[in-house]
Amino acid sequence: MAGLERFTVTFVIPPSKDFECSICLSVLREPYLTTCCGSHFCQLCVDNVKKKNNECPVCREKPVNAVIDKYFRRQLNQLQVYCPRRSVKGFQGTGCDWVGELGSVEEHLAVDQLKGECQYVEVECRLCGQPNLRRMLSKHINKSCPNRSISCQYCGFQSTHENITKQHIDVCPNFPLVCTNFCSSTMLKGHELPSHLSTCLEQEVACSFGEMGCKEKMQRKFLQQHLESNVMQHQMLTCQAFHV
Ligand SMILES: [Zn+2]
Ligand SMILES: [Zn+2]
Ligand SMILES: [Zn+2]
Ligand SMILES: [Zn+2]
Ligand SMILES: [Zn+2]
Ligand SMILES: [Zn+2]
Ligand SMILES: [Zn+2]
Repeated sequence: MAGLERFTVTFVIPPSKDFECSICLSVLREPYLTTCCGSHFCQLCVDNVKKKNNECPVCREKPVNAVIDKYFRRQLNQLQVYCPRRSVKGFQGTGCDWVGELGSVEEHLAVDQLKGECQYVEVECRLCGQPNLRRMLSKHINKSCPNRSISCQYCGFQSTHENITKQHIDVCPNFPLVCTNFCSSTMLKGHELPSHLSTCLEQEVACSFGEMGCKEKMQRKFLQQHLESNVMQHQMLTCQAFHV
């Protein structure tokens, strides 16, 4: 019953005193029978006595000698119990409603196995190691596991969800970017931004007569207007520039 040790089993009908361990006073777990006085102890309780003073706590015989009581174990294993996960800490709602023989609890729980009958046992996600109730596992793997595999919606690069959303997004070559001038131009891929800026109407440019001395700067969309309304000034600047 190795896998059962971390669970508390509740019996549908409390077992009779006969099934009680004379040491720990709870229902026997792996019943051992002493050869000295015929008392029943749990396997673990016998082990502890042997480690301590090796003396039978009932009749004081030393050294204590006990053997597994297979008949008693069969009787015990037939007792009806509730699933140890009938209520689950931290889980809203009711847990597992399984009722069955003590002897089949272990198989029902299937602890440490990914698949199993009981949906209220915590199993580790094979991708990230997080414990999840078995019933939540597929949802976790498909919807929320940080290590689930996804592909970047912009470039198709495949990696874990965590890597795509935290690292790749900063270097994705196809990540849509808004124009730095916030022009109405459609979203741009990162590597197209420089070429867009050379035609973006909202980009600030210097007057075409800058070299002649016009210090005006304006958005590209106003350049034509500036040139048209400053024909004279630009001509004068050009003349001056050539007459230095
Ligand atoms: Zn005991
Ligand atoms: Zn004894
Ligand atoms: Zn169950
Ligand atoms: Zn996971
Ligand atoms: Zn990408
Ligand atoms: Zn733009
Ligand atoms: Zn100008």
